[in-house]
Amino acid sequence: MGIGWINGMPAEIKLKISATLKAKGIKPPSNKGKHFTKEHVYKIIEAKRKNGSLYHTAERTEKIQQSRKRFYDKVGRKSKLVDRIKNTKKYRAWRKVIFERDNYTCVLCNKRGGKLHCDHIIQKAIYLKACQYDYNRCMNYASLWDIKNGRTLCYKCHKATSTYGKLL
Ligand SMILES: [Zn+2]
Repeated sequence: MGIGWINGMPAEIKLKISATLKAKGIKPPSNKGKHFTKEHVYKIIEAKRKNGSLYHTAERTEKIQQSRKRFYDKVGRKSKLVDRIKNTKKYRAWRKVIFERDNYTCVLCNKRGGKLHCDHIIQKAIYLKACQYDYNRCMNYASLWDIKNGRTLCYKCHKATSTYGKLL
């Protein structure tokens, strides 16, 4: 179980609660698709303003920043950068172009479909380092987004590359 958060709770705890509820056959009420009315939202804001919880106090903000810093000191900021890049429309579009060009077929073992990955032929880590792990620089770094430097690999072949998941 990695470090992660679901609905403002550590994923581990959240999943444990879900499992317990499931085992007991309890289904928590879902708010999915429901919207507050405007009046309701204003009421909530007004109430929060009254009891002083609308904004964090400077002290609280400082505490949050500190704990965030400790968290990323622990897990590392580089992997977060990769996640952030992979979460962009630009990345998904880049990947789609390569998948379509390669006909959704692994270029090494010719397996079609299944769990496909998009691999940077020249290691992505080199470019990330060149961008000094700066998100905006990475997003605008042409070599990182060069279609010619991408290839379709199945999960197995990708994992077998010497640079899989490695950062510099
Ligand atoms: Zn393959």
